[in-house]
Amino acid sequence: MEVEPYQFEPTVSEEESSASDDSSDVFSDDVNEDRIGHVEWCICGNCVPMHTGRESTCCRENAKSCDKIPPAMSCVTDNENFNAVCTNPAVIETAFNQYLENEGPIDDESLNEYVCITFTYRYVAYRQYTYWIHKKLGRKIRIPIPSCVVKQIRESFPSEGGNYKGFEYAH
Ligand SMILES: [Zn+2]
Ligand SMILES: [Zn+2]
Repeated sequence: MEVEPYQFEPTVSEEESSASDDSSDVFSDDVNEDRIGHVEWCICGNCVPMHTGRESTCCRENAKSCDKIPPAMSCVTDNENFNAVCTNPAVIETAFNQYLENEGPIDDESLNEYVCITFTYRYVAYRQYTYWIHKKLGRKIRIPIPSCVVKQIRESFPSEGGNYKGFEYAH
């Protein structure tokens, strides 16, 4: 079976740029465009404005992530297991190594791109989240990662220079 290193890659959206907020037609197939640039749609209180409407989703909008919100808490990131699964460096490093072994071998050209795009652990952390919540990646249906989760993972594994690719889908 041919190995496709990116078969579970997230859709990579435009590189984020704090300098420009013009909406371009890159996101013309976006949903919830009226959510861009604010967090009025957030119920949990931890979401941040996202660059696309598709990424502008709250943990409280998904029944499965709601199930992981501890009683009397408001956000899925309040679940202590969230940090154990998604932001613990040793866990993410281990999952990253496992991912490389499962998806490899990766040819040089792909490796370049791989290093550029997913060398940090954020991508693996998003996969961890999706496995934790949904138990599978969902190869056909893209499951967006809630904004509050994206925020926590970005803070745990910050990008050098502050540029983030759109990894908000776990495959
Ligand atoms: Zn929220
Ligand atoms: Zn939340």
